[in-house]
Amino acid sequence: MKTSFYQFTLPMLQEIFLANDLPATGPAKLYNWHYKKRRTEKCEKDFAKVSQDFVAENFSFELPEIDSLQKSTDRTVKFLLKLSDGKKVETVLIPSNKRYGICLSSQVGCAMKCSFCHTGLQGLERHLETHEIVGQLLAVQRWLNAERPDDNDIATIVFMGQGEPLHNFDSVKNACEIFLSQNGLSLAADKITISTAGYLPGLKRWKAEMPDVNIALSLHAIDKLKRDKLIPINQKFPVEEVLEIVNSIPKQKKRFVVYEYLLARGFNDSKEDAEKLGKALQGKRAFVNIIPFNPFPGAEYERPSKEEIDAFKEQLDQSGVTSLVRFTKGDDILAACGQLNSRS
Ligand code: SAH
Repeated sequence: MKTSFYQFTLPMLQEIFLANDLPATGPAKLYNWHYKKRRTEKCEKDFAKVSQDFVAENFSFELPEIDSLQKSTDRTVKFLLKLSDGKKVETVLIPSNKRYGICLSSQVGCAMKCSFCHTGLQGLERHLETHEIVGQLLAVQRWLNAERPDDNDIATIVFMGQGEPLHNFDSVKNACEIFLSQNGLSLAADKITISTAGYLPGLKRWKAEMPDVNIALSLHAIDKLKRDKLIPINQKFPVEEVLEIVNSIPKQKKRFVVYEYLLARGFNDSKEDAEKLGKALQGKRAFVNIIPFNPFPGAEYERPSKEEIDAFKEQLDQSGVTSLVRFTKGDDILAACGQLNSRS
């Protein structure tokens, strides 16, 4: 059976070439062709015939299929992508100035069961393979090249789609290596952000193995009982331990840790909540993304009013912690945070 070419980091590919007595220059050439030049046809130019035959025999270049897509009025596009076993995940293109950020999924469903998240209600079906993570970007890039050839620049990657990326560490790490590789997509590490609910085992590996990639922590509440209710894994992996790891990373230059704070009306949006948040982050290199709750059918929370959101932010401002209310993009197509559910 053929294996997806997009499964392999460059060192892995080099090992395969070595083990099969193929010319050592092959892997970098293939990377250049398929990632840097983003070519989809076979690599035959300046590429040894013996390597061409090996590639044709052993690797597949299939990408996830676009099952359906929805375009928002603000250039956001939500894709439902079909994987080779028929399972579906969502990937979202988010406009950012003249370019795009892409929001990738890391799992089909999610095991974290956060009470405010549409994907969480779905439960975990399976992890995604590296080639399915990389494949989301390439499938969307191919669509952009065809549909918006003058507006096709994907500049940043966020793991904020379906799934808990640190719960599928190996595949996410290998995908990041492909994105970062100088022969691959050649992105800078600070252009990639992994968002986590605070999955401690993965966070420890992140610190040891890939601390240059940005982390965003879904904090959502300081108060233990409130965070337990919002993010059940808080009971197993207490936020104090999570914060200790996040804050122990040596901060290069101007690096800030991004904290996400979901704002749910009457639950974690009071003056006291804002004060507690301010106190916990004061003096740290912290940046808070305030995400007003995005409703979905059957949700048990509500989105606060504009005045309530502003009041929360003003209270936080007083503690000197920088924050931004994240304006929802694509909410006319249910593409905003936590609204992704491949079954709906
Ligand atoms: N599992 C990762 C990434 C997935 S979600 C994590 O927990 O961080 C990306 C962000 O969207 C997280 O901050 C998540 O808490 C937030 N989110 C999930 N559901 C939401 C909803 N209904 N409204 C607003 N934000 C939501």
